[in-house]
Amino acid sequence: MNRFALLLLLTMICFVTVSSQQSATGLERQAADLHRRALVIDTHMDTLQRVLIKGADLGVESKDGQSDLPRLKAGGIDAQFFAIWPDPMYAPHHAARRTLQLIDAMYGVLARYPDRIELARHAADIERIAATGRLAALMGIEGGHAIQNDLALLRMFHRLGVSYMTLTHSNTNDWADSSTDKARWGGLNDFGREVVREMNRLGMLVDVSHVSEETVMDVLEVSTKPVIASHSSCLALCNHPRNLSDKALRAIAQKDGVIGINFFSGFVDQRYLDTMNARQNDILATLNEKKAIPPEDLDRVAAERLKLLEDPGIPRPPLARLLDHIDHAVKIAGIDHVGIGSDLDTIPTPEGMNDVSDMPKITKGLLERGYSEQHIRKILGGNFMRVLRQATGR
Ligand SMILES: [Zn+2]
Repeated sequence: MNRFALLLLLTMICFVTVSSQQSATGLERQAADLHRRALVIDTHMDTLQRVLIKGADLGVESKDGQSDLPRLKAGGIDAQFFAIWPDPMYAPHHAARRTLQLIDAMYGVLARYPDRIELARHAADIERIAATGRLAALMGIEGGHAIQNDLALLRMFHRLGVSYMTLTHSNTNDWADSSTDKARWGGLNDFGREVVREMNRLGMLVDVSHVSEETVMDVLEVSTKPVIASHSSCLALCNHPRNLSDKALRAIAQKDGVIGINFFSGFVDQRYLDTMNARQNDILATLNEKKAIPPEDLDRVAAERLKLLEDPGIPRPPLARLLDHIDHAVKIAGIDHVGIGSDLDTIPTPEGMNDVSDMPKITKGLLERGYSEQHIRKILGGNFMRVLRQATGR
């Protein structure tokens, strides 16, 4: 190569590098702008565990966990569902107590920071609160064992402001089968159907994350309203029973529901899941242990489990794996039926998704994959708003 050709080549390389950098920053700017303007709703986050167990102050930006009010703001979140999760080990006799402790933790945050966060129950509340620049907080009970088989408790939790209930957690309960436990009912039993009807009547969203596929189908048959899967990913891409099959994705969409894609590495990446399963004795067995824990030890064991999830020591999958699940859900369920249900705080997540402040990377990733701004707005929150409006009436 002569000197002229070399110079030309170098000039071309420089030009290509500069123009690709320019388009990258252009796209970044477009993503940041879109993310700021869009209504962003995350339908599942476990932050209240840290508030209750560790006394976390959500008003202060922390290095601990994956979320607090400053990081939710940085992540552009307009409405956040806080999970009210009575660990299944509290069932059957202590679940309502744990549920109330977590609701109390939520109320504590609301009372401490009224200028930054407000409880929302309806889609109209979310719009009103988001317009003031504050965070709309919603509560979702995770695990039907919370109601201790009593519809009066369900009604009281709804009166306290709970917007959805996931019918099971990892445990099959007295009226619904879980995806990660023995089937007792082949889906829902008669009382389970009554629970769904009462939730419809109250205007409470029925959440099918965690339940078995038979339960999903029973719920869709009984429910008169669209249902949600608040935090579930796709079985076709990662073979974990917690993920939804294409059949379930389609069925939820046919009922006009929405699926919030879960960010947990063990649900999005097969290799991560396989490694996690290989270390089952250390991780999963501890989380799912069936032996009875004495009531006086329940709170200590809950704290130990939270610690275990913070660092299981497995290499993280790339962020692209998570975006693949959004792509797949859109392909199978349709663009009107996919949302975000991060399950953050605290879980192992793909590279780059370190905490909730990284949420704009989803918007950027979707733009890079060719999604239109209108479609991204649907995924970020528009779809969920439609379903919440139908469930609550406003
Ligand atoms: Zn969950």
